[in-house]
Formats: sequence, structure tokens, C-alpha cells
Amino acid sequence: MKAISYQGVNDVRTIETDEPACRPGHAKIRVRAAGICGTDMAIAAGKHPRARAPLIMGHEFSGEIVQIVPEPGKAPELSVGDRVTAYPLLTCGHCFACTNGAAHVCRTLKLIGIDCDGAFAEYACVPLDLLVKVPGHVDYAAGALIEPLAVGIHAVEMAKDAPMDNAVVLGAGPIGLLTAFALSLKNVRDIIVADINPSRLARAGQMGFRTVNSAEQDLNAVVAENTNGEGAALLFECAGAESAAAQMCGLARSRGTIVMAGVHKDPHAVDLRTLNFREITLVGSRVYTRSDYKAAVGAAAQLPADIIISHSLGIEDAVQGFEFMKHPDGVCKVVFSM
Ligand SMILES: [Zn+2]
Ligand SMILES: [Zn+2]
Repeated sequence: MKAISYQGVNDVRTIETDEPACRPGHAKIRVRAAGICGTDMAIAAGKHPRARAPLIMGHEFSGEIVQIVPEPGKAPELSVGDRVTAYPLLTCGHCFACTNGAAHVCRTLKLIGIDCDGAFAEYACVPLDLLVKVPGHVDYAAGALIEPLAVGIHAVEMAKDAPMDNAVVLGAGPIGLLTAFALSLKNVRDIIVADINPSRLARAGQMGFRTVNSAEQDLNAVVAENTNGEGAALLFECAGAESAAAQMCGLARSRGTIVMAGVHKDPHAVDLRTLNFREITLVGSRVYTRSDYKAAVGAAAQLPADIIISHSLGIEDAVQGFEFMKHPDGVCKVVFSM
């Protein structure tokens, strides 16, 4: 079969390899669509702390079951032909997080497509208990967006009971757009999406969000004007950029909540004095729980996949796909269709 493999630093290519053998407790999936994530870019650049070459990447995907090998004595709940995606988290089951209802932040969390072979391939074998059925009216491309949508849904869940009368989302990449979409599912109407990239902002605008180009407009002033000078009730940091970290506390109102959905790969300066003075709640957010995933599957049919997916490529276009992802202009989510 064909697969897209991380062969070494800055060496991602389409290779010919054996189809994976389906072990007991696993299903073999004919992968139909798989998206490139920022994490895959970090792997390709040799900057991921855990990924080791050679590796078939890909943790955002959808496909259909072509074979099931059940665990002896255990009847599978899924059938051949089912349309599925995977909850790609591999957890230890015995650390503090795993035994306290938060397995998604397992002390040794691993992911399909990062710590073991994933779905940038014609076939993938996935543990049966990680497969999630996708309704037939959700097409495969939207199915590949369920994973990043779950990231957005989880970020909104992490705001817990914070008032949601208005929200600012920093960053209009896939996670920013999907977080804003997750907010709209919660009936938050007053949402501002900020970025410096016009093509990404155009996508946010197409999705119905108010946009601010913070390279051209003073975001602080726009948010102040929109909130009677108070600042944002809720702020989602989805940019992962140093400038966003520096700016975010100043955008939040007193007793406001900031949720970190973007991953900052370096320690960035944060205005902690403003955090004190306004008693801002700063919340970390990582991946998603099973219930967030279920919610993402339920909302997938409403996703504007055609806006979020900027490029749909074939499995032989690995080099091109990863090249596209390096240039945010005109690029949002790149999906391989098999
Ligand atoms: Zn991802
Ligand atoms: Zn654990």
C-alpha cells in the first residue's frame, strides 16, 4: 500500500509499504481522508519530543472498516462497512489522571500517528475500543475534521461555567476556526476572531464571525468598543504565538477567562500583573475527552468543511502537502483523500 512516512528530519514522502496486519482487538480501516495537523509539521521538522522515524503520521482521519479481529470472547460493537474515525489517544490506565477521570491528560499520553503508525496510508489498524462510528450523512472530509473540532469543543468545555456573553478567539487557523465554531454551537453570538493573515480571516468571515486583522486594527480598541470598555468575557488563545501570549491578558475583562488552546512551543511572556489585577482565570486545554469527541461527531454534519479545508490532495502528494502547510497564506487545513 501507499503511505506517507516521516523518514527523517525534513524528509516526509510517499512510500510503498506492507499493509498493516490486524491484531486481535483491532479493526483494519480503509482510510478515506486524513488531515495534516500542526503536530505533523513539528514531527516533519524533527521538533516533536516523542516521534521517531520511520513513522506513518496521521491522527485526524476517517474511513471505513474492512476487517475486524475481535478479542477472543468479546463481540465487537462495530461491523465491516461502518464509517469511522478514531479517538487517537493511547493512555496508561493507572496514573493519577487516568484514575481520576482525566485520561486525556495521562502522564504518558501517546497518540496514534505520533507514537505509533497512523492514518496517512491506504490502510490503518486501530484498536476497536478507540473507533467511533460516524453517521453516513457526514462525508469523509468532514470526518477528518472531527479530531480538530474536538480540540475546539474541549477548549470551550474548559471554560466551564464562565459567562459566555462575548468571546475573542486569537488565531484563525483550523483550531481557531473550529473553536469559534464550537462557541457558536453553545449559542455564543458575539464572537470576534483575530489574526494577521487576510486569507485566514476571510475564512472566519465566511463562517459568519466578526473578524479583526490585528496587523491593521488595534484589537484592544475594537474589543473595548464592543464590550463597553470592559474587555472580553472569554478569550481563546489559538495562535500559539508570542504576540498573542503578550496581548491576551490585556484583552480580557475583570474576572474574565482565558483558555489556552494553541500550544506554545517556547516559554512566552504573559502579563501576569494584569492577570492579578483583573482576577483573570487562565486555563490550560489539551486534546479532548471521549465526551468531547462524541459531541464533535454529533456536530460534524454542520461543519463548513469546504471553508476549513483549503487543499485536498492525493496520497502521492505528500511533499506538496507538507510544503503547503509551511505557508499560511491561502492555506488552512490540508487533507489527503485516499
Ligand atoms: Zn491534530
Ligand atoms: Zn495514564
